[in-house]
Amino acid sequence: MPYQGTASMVAEVSVHCEACGHEYSYERMLRDYARHANETAATAAAEDSLAKLVDKVQSGDYGPVASQKPCPQCGYLQSWMVGPVRRRRSWQWALATAASVYLVALLGLIFVRPEGLRTDDCLVLLTLVGASAIVFLATRAIFLWTYQPNRHRDVPPQTNAPTVRFRRP
Ligand SMILES: [Zn+2]
Repeated sequence: MPYQGTASMVAEVSVHCEACGHEYSYERMLRDYARHANETAATAAAEDSLAKLVDKVQSGDYGPVASQKPCPQCGYLQSWMVGPVRRRRSWQWALATAASVYLVALLGLIFVRPEGLRTDDCLVLLTLVGASAIVFLATRAIFLWTYQPNRHRDVPPQTNAPTVRFRRP
């Protein structure tokens, strides 16, 4: 029976707004999991994996601590947040849309029973899965293309890296 090890860390992110200079901060919980046959090893593996994530942030990749938290003063989403938030949210949107399409189509098949279609027909189910996959890819592409949180704003002249401090929860 494998054990699941968990490791968590709170990242305190201090932001100096690139657009208006306002200072604000937020916290983000970082969690990592690992499985192992032995409990101690599972926890150690999770800690190891979390330490790599912390290293990544400390070496300047702020993706893991990026949040969809615009400046409370002027509403600007900091330049280093846009990419990670765009990618993360595109997965969520694509997954939700594809799952909804799949469920609605499946319920339609089961309850409406279109003429000549059988719900236990593998080909019908495969078509449904394929169609949902296409919906997933299309939704993700559209989201990546259209998500522009700082639309209609001037691009600030500077980019500011956040200050990130880590502490145990
Ligand atoms: Zn601002």
